[in-house]
Amino acid sequence: YHQSKALTFSSFGEPADVLSLHTHSISPTLPSGSVLVRTLAAPVNPADVNTIQGTYGSKPPFTTLLGTPQPSAVPGNEACFEVLSVGQGAKGLQKGDWVIPAKTGFGTFRTHALVEEAEGKLMRVDREGLTPVQVATVSVNPCSAYRMLKDYVDLVGLSMQWYREGRDVSGGAWFLQNGANSGVGRAAVQFGKLWGLRSINVVRERDTPEETEKLKGELKGLGADVVFTEQEFLDRSFRDRLGELTRGGREPLLLGMNCVGGKSASAVVKALSPKGCMVTYGGMSRQSFPFPTGPQIFKRLRFEGFWLSEWGKENPEGKKKMIEDILNLMREGKFKESPVQQVEWNWETEEKTLKEAVQGTLAGFRSGKGVFVF
Ligand code: NDP
Repeated sequence: YHQSKALTFSSFGEPADVLSLHTHSISPTLPSGSVLVRTLAAPVNPADVNTIQGTYGSKPPFTTLLGTPQPSAVPGNEACFEVLSVGQGAKGLQKGDWVIPAKTGFGTFRTHALVEEAEGKLMRVDREGLTPVQVATVSVNPCSAYRMLKDYVDLVGLSMQWYREGRDVSGGAWFLQNGANSGVGRAAVQFGKLWGLRSINVVRERDTPEETEKLKGELKGLGADVVFTEQEFLDRSFRDRLGELTRGGREPLLLGMNCVGGKSASAVVKALSPKGCMVTYGGMSRQSFPFPTGPQIFKRLRFEGFWLSEWGKENPEGKKKMIEDILNLMREGKFKESPVQQVEWNWETEEKTLKEAVQGTLAGFRSGKGVFVF
């Protein structure tokens, strides 16, 4: 029997209160069509915490599959797994392969998983030249940035049009984002650069000016064109700075990506050029924002919401291709994964350590995303 541990929860609440570490065993004789995997790395994303809190857009089913005293669910959507064994009739995978969950809601905060009726639940990844952390973090943050930059405004097409028209522009089309140092933000900066776009990035001020400059420098190192603090972004002077950058709107700002909400989101609305689109995909400040009537009408703005899970359900093939594309960019050294704080999860690791790693995810001002490594 394989001994296995999993973080589980049986009711919604704060991770520190409702998570518990559950030990169970997995029979070595696999049911037909099943695959047994061992976890190599699993990140903790903001959505995982919201799921445990019960505030997320989808709720996991609570089951007795793991033999917990109360029906329970395992949180976690992303991971890099290694295949340990393959049951009869499970096609396309073999021992030693690396795989990732094909869909969200997998439940990845565990040392092992017995994946029943595995067909369509796991996606094989060519591990050549990649680390478990790179593979484990590819399918949520980078994919979200990739989609938002492509699907709402044709910025690449616009840049090419400017080029064809022989316009005197200093670069490609602009986009603006708050939360720019998040995993999604860092990915957007890099795709923007790779695709010939220009980015205006907003981050929260750090404790000291030196630390703020360091963070701005990090993003510029990834390809950010300009980086503002929230304070600079909310200041009246931003209008003039934006005017200079967009040459008085001749190189319009048509896409704003918002994962913060509140005043920051309102400032994104203000910054957009006529016919611009704001895509909201998160609300880290937990504050909502008004959809102002004037700008909606007179600037003919568009407001969209983005949810990767639904996009993935509607486009399973597209998701696979996108992930392969991004993993290739990583192999070629053209795309860097975001900084992470590794939390080692071995047989001795205490429940408290694991719970705290999950609880800390929404704390803010962190040096990197928490990732369980096994
Ligand atoms: P990370 O865990 O990598 O980073 C968290 C980010 O949130 C940091 O930029 C942090 O800034 C910022 N932040 C934390 N607290 C606050 C606060 N109170 N006010 C403003 N900013 C804050 O994040 P991810 O890249 O994983 O996720 C970023 C957002 O994108 C989340 O809201 C997440 O839910 C959302 N998301 C949505 C998806 C979708 O399909 N809709 C898919 C993927 C992500 P600082 O360093 O200053 O603390």
